[in-house]
Amino acid sequence: MHEVVPVNPWVALAYLIAGVCFILALRGLSSPASSRRGNRFGMAGMAIAVVTTLIVHGLGFDLTFTEPRALTSTLEFDPASLIEILIAIAIGAGIGLVVARRIAMTAMPQLVAAFHSLVGLAAVLVAAAAFLNPQAFHIASVITPIAGPNIVSIFPVSRIEMGLGVAIGAITFSGSVIAFLKLNGNMSGAPILLPGRHIINLGTLAAIIGLIAYFTTDQSGWVFWTVTALSFLIGFLLIIPIGGADMPVVVSMLNSYSGWAAAAMGFTLGNTAMIITGALVGSSGAILSYIMCRAMNRSFISVIAGGFGAVADTSGGGQAIDRPWKRGSAEDAAFLMEQAELVIIVPGYGMAVAQAQHALREMADQLKEKGVTVKYAIHPVAGRMPGHMNVLLAEANVPYDEVFELEDINSEFAQADVAFVIGANDVTNPAAKTDKSSPIYGMPVLDVEKAKTVLFVKRSMGGVGYAGVDNELFYRDNTMMLLADAKKMVEEIVKALD
Ligand code: NDP
Repeated sequence: MHEVVPVNPWVALAYLIAGVCFILALRGLSSPASSRRGNRFGMAGMAIAVVTTLIVHGLGFDLTFTEPRALTSTLEFDPASLIEILIAIAIGAGIGLVVARRIAMTAMPQLVAAFHSLVGLAAVLVAAAAFLNPQAFHIASVITPIAGPNIVSIFPVSRIEMGLGVAIGAITFSGSVIAFLKLNGNMSGAPILLPGRHIINLGTLAAIIGLIAYFTTDQSGWVFWTVTALSFLIGFLLIIPIGGADMPVVVSMLNSYSGWAAAAMGFTLGNTAMIITGALVGSSGAILSYIMCRAMNRSFISVIAGGFGAVADTSGGGQAIDRPWKRGSAEDAAFLMEQAELVIIVPGYGMAVAQAQHALREMADQLKEKGVTVKYAIHPVAGRMPGHMNVLLAEANVPYDEVFELEDINSEFAQADVAFVIGANDVTNPAAKTDKSSPIYGMPVLDVEKAKTVLFVKRSMGGVGYAGVDNELFYRDNTMMLLADAKKMVEEIVKALD
């Protein structure tokens, strides 16, 4: 029987403050106006958590919930290893800084996927280290409030956490690698459908759960490594059948998994700050996934079971290219818009690629000077990551009160004189409302066609959106195509408006 010694109160307080900072960070990030403040809270919370953990290790305090750590084993941390930790932090921070500065905004989703894969891998490595060297991780003496201070009854609890940690970590790792390859274009975005995949997935999941349960009674290496291998496999199997249009949900779902993996790691390491942070990331990611699914009219279970988009007609705009369509110039667009009372701008991925947001704001400013009301309509999955358009418009100092979400602005297209669609395609495609065979069927879209005139800025008639389907709006009578790079076209319109 072990005596229960409460954790150092200063450490507990520091972790609590870090946890509160993370909650304030999430709250701040919920609106563009407060997002900078939110980021600062997040940075402060992380700094407090990291510094506290380093001090705890340096001074040899116990990190677990209960007992002081005995520093007798050579495998324990000692102050000297702090140098190694600091070197590792410096290398990681250096790489992160360079990558974050260099990365194009359009490549953010793959970067996020790559970062999630690192969290997953870290969870696997921590679990493996704890498995191979339980003493160093105090596995046998981690006393949780659930288990009580009895070593025999606690042991299985920490094994379950370890099993869950390695499983979620491995799923996050392999799933994120596939998501990265798909988003980065190294792998086709089209769903890869294995025959009998639902049975294979269910069988693999059941085997993982069964083996984790068995692991509490038998800690043989084969059990641990089989759970690890099957989890890597299921991460891969779960993501390959997910079609292009459903990738936003995958990104937020993997975000959630990475949080749960970190929380499980927190249990293994006995670090409360990590448990709190992991749980916050896990639950906020799950809520985001749910919101994204609702925005795309998808069932969450169906998306994670895989195979949506299976009926995707990814043949692109092929057959439709022969249909008649109207081409306009920058001067035509300028003329139409300066005559308008209400212009609704619909930005999409192409605006991000072209980095046209600054020129776009300049165009909107000119129109406003001419007495035109300008509003921006943001689809929840426009671009390639949640909030992609909001971030770019905020960067160009577009006033927040001109930016509207789909449900708040969709009814206004009927009153608009011009819908100015810049680099958006799938999020305007009426096939989502009418064509049951379309991979985007069921996703709510912006009703741009209800505006008197629709101006579509894109580079060519052949270029399709992420879901790979043609958009019949291009061939409608009230549509004018402005074929050019988005930034170039908007700059020309700005000149024409002068
Ligand atoms: P789309 O991918 O549907 O369309 C982008 C359009 O931009 C294309 O028509 C393309 O045509 C045009 N384009 C590309 N580059 C330029 C350029 N330099 N100048 C002008 N036009 C350009 O974008 P949407 O924003 O409408 O839809 C987002 C899609 O991405 C949805 O299917 C969504 O599910 C998916 N997705 C979203 C994620 C998210 O979290 N938001 C994550 C992953 C996927 P052309 O080549 O002819 O120029």
